[in-house]
Amino acid sequence: MIYLDYSATTPVSREVLESYEKATRDYMGNVNSIHALGVKSKVLYNSATKQICDLFDIKEDELIYTSGATESNNMALKGVALAYQGRGKHIIVSKLEHPSIYKICDFLETQGFKIDYVENDSEGLIDFDDLKKKIRKDTILVSVCAVNSEVGVRQPLKTIRMLIKKENPETIFHSDITQAVGKVAINLHDVDLASMSGHKIFGPKGIGFLYKSSKVRLIPLIHGSGKVNDLRAGTPPLPLVVSLSKAIRIALKDLEKKEEKITKLNERICDNLAKYDGVVINKTKYSIPHILNVSLVNIKPETFIHAMEDEEIYLSTNTACASGDLSSSVMAIYNDKARATSTIRISLSYVTTNEEISKFLNIFKSKYQELNTLVKLK
Ligand code: PMP
Repeated sequence: MIYLDYSATTPVSREVLESYEKATRDYMGNVNSIHALGVKSKVLYNSATKQICDLFDIKEDELIYTSGATESNNMALKGVALAYQGRGKHIIVSKLEHPSIYKICDFLETQGFKIDYVENDSEGLIDFDDLKKKIRKDTILVSVCAVNSEVGVRQPLKTIRMLIKKENPETIFHSDITQAVGKVAINLHDVDLASMSGHKIFGPKGIGFLYKSSKVRLIPLIHGSGKVNDLRAGTPPLPLVVSLSKAIRIALKDLEKKEEKITKLNERICDNLAKYDGVVINKTKYSIPHILNVSLVNIKPETFIHAMEDEEIYLSTNTACASGDLSSSVMAIYNDKARATSTIRISLSYVTTNEEISKFLNIFKSKYQELNTLVKLK
C-alpha cells in the first residue's frame, strides 16, 4: 500500500499507541475523583497538559481538550458569538477555510450574525486591504486558516493579527491550525484562539484542542459537571490526552528537516506530472509542500481515485470532508470551474519515501493514460 492522504488522517504511531495503552491500563481513576486513583490520574493529566503548554508557550488554563478540530472550530466560533453578541454580530472568515467553518457560519447566520468573506489574491494570500475595509466596530471575530487543507496555502498569522488589532483591538482572531501543526512552525501568540486535531499528526482520532488566550471569554458548548475544565464538562479522556501530548511532542521535532525532505518529494512529483496533457498543478508560492493539489481536467477525480485505489494507492479528491464536487479553495484562488471540479490531493508526510513516489508515478502514468484513452473513445 502507498498512502498519500496524510492530510485526511495519519496512522497512530507506535510510541503514541504505547502511551495510550499504558494510560488505559495503569490509570483507570477519573481525573475528577478526589481519592488516590483519581489523584494519580490527575497527576498524569497535568503533566501531559503541561508538556503541550510548554511546547506552545501557553498557560494550562488556555488549553481546552476537544474531540478534534471540528469541535474546536464550533467552540471558538459559537462560543465567541454567544459571549460577545452584545458588542456586535459581525464575523469575517476567509475563502480558504475548512468546510466545518462554513457550516458553523451558515448556522450563525440563522441566529442573526452577519458573515463577510475576505478576498484573497491569485496566490491565495489574504487581501489585506479588503480585510482592513471589512473590519467594523461591531466585528467580534476574524477566522483565517493557518494552512489551507486543499491547496496548502499558508497565511502570515502575525501580520494578519497586527492588521486586525490595528483596525479594531477588540476583534478576536481565530485560526484553524489543523493542517499547520507538525508541518510548519506555529506561534500561538499570533492568535487569540486556535483549533487542531490529533489524528493529523500520528495521534489518535477523537482528541484535539482549542487554544484560548486568557484574554478571551467563551460560552461553553457543553455544560455539565467536572472540575478540570468548566469550558467542556465531563470526564476527560486521559489516554487520549496523554496520546495527544506524545503525538505533539514528536510532531514538533525537526520541522525543518522534515520539510526539506517533503519539498524534494513534492518537486519530484510536480516535475513529473507537469509533463502530462490535461494535468494542471494547483500550487502557489504560499503552498506548503506537504499538500499537493492537482487538477485532471479530462478525468473525473473519483474515477481516478478509485483506479489508483485498485493498485492500493490512496489519494483524495479535494478534502476528505468537502461536500459536493467543487474545491472551494481552488475556485477561490484560480476562479476556474473546470479546474476546481477536477482536483485530486496528494498529501505527503516525512515518512513518505522516494520509493513510494517512484511507484506512485509509474502507476499514475499507466492509470492516467488508460483513463485518458477511454475519455477520448467516448
Ligand atoms: N480543519 C482543517 C483545516 C482540517 O483539515 C480538518 C480535517 N480535514 C478539520 C478542520 C476537521 O478535523 P476533524 O475531522 O478532526 O474534526
